[in-house]
Amino acid sequence: MITCSVPSCSNPTAGGEVCGLCLGRLLGDLAAVDELVDDLDDTVARRTRTGQRVGSRPSDTGLPFNVGAAEVRDDLRNVLSTWVRELWETHGPRHEVPTGETAPGGSPVVVAELDPLDLDDTLPDMAAWLRRHPSWIEYHQAAGELVDEITDAVERARRAVDLPPARLYCGPCPNCGADLYARPDRATIGCRECESQHDVEALRAALLDAARAQLATAAEVARALPRLLGRDLSANTVRTWARNGRLTRREPDERGRPRYLVGEVIDVALATPSRTQIAPSGLPWSRDRHGVAGRASK
Ligand SMILES: [Zn+2]
Ligand SMILES: [Zn+2]
Repeated sequence: MITCSVPSCSNPTAGGEVCGLCLGRLLGDLAAVDELVDDLDDTVARRTRTGQRVGSRPSDTGLPFNVGAAEVRDDLRNVLSTWVRELWETHGPRHEVPTGETAPGGSPVVVAELDPLDLDDTLPDMAAWLRRHPSWIEYHQAAGELVDEITDAVERARRAVDLPPARLYCGPCPNCGADLYARPDRATIGCRECESQHDVEALRAALLDAARAQLATAAEVARALPRLLGRDLSANTVRTWARNGRLTRREPDERGRPRYLVGEVIDVALATPSRTQIAPSGLPWSRDRHGVAGRASK
């Protein structure tokens, strides 16, 4: 069994270097880059125009707030281009180029040269390119660092523009396997690749079902589940539920941290109202607690 190499994640992987939840989280973040860049640009322009300090709101996020939207944007660009380059150097096709010299046997000496990468170094283009190469990422030996650095840079960008997670990861398209991301207010999603239409509720229920059998620490649950559940869930909340006897502590990980059955956490989360509901009604896990209000409009 291979353990996910994302720092502090200890899920088993499907054979690659990172687990499905971490890869899904990465792909979801990459899908958000387009909108995020627009918002970062707006933020930089607005604050520059009004003479405001170019930076984020002073807040409770614990960030050093001399880090402004412009720096966050540059940082995201650096991180994305570093990993694009790394993946291309590892997996990109090479062609043989004669050096002009001749080997002792009389044959021309050739070197294998990496094909040039045809890609604009804009943030949306780099993010889209990375999303087209999930298996290059999944099996790269430094995949854990890649996921950690990119998701961290995206998270900082989000905080800089004060943007909630924009899209819900819905898993692969049942038709063609392309990753699907739904806007939180939509009940159906159209696949960009094969144009098939799917029910967001059913896709996400299947995704959650697949996660149910896994064991995870409170920190891992807090990282992976909010995006899947569409509600806020902190590691502290998970630990509180365990102390109150609502969750059973399972076999600890190799560092002795208690783990929980993801399915059990999901059930408790669904049965507990959240103050910060990300997903609107229309998804089963919000309908449970918030009735069917809002669905009548469909
Ligand atoms: Zn993982
Ligand atoms: Zn498709």
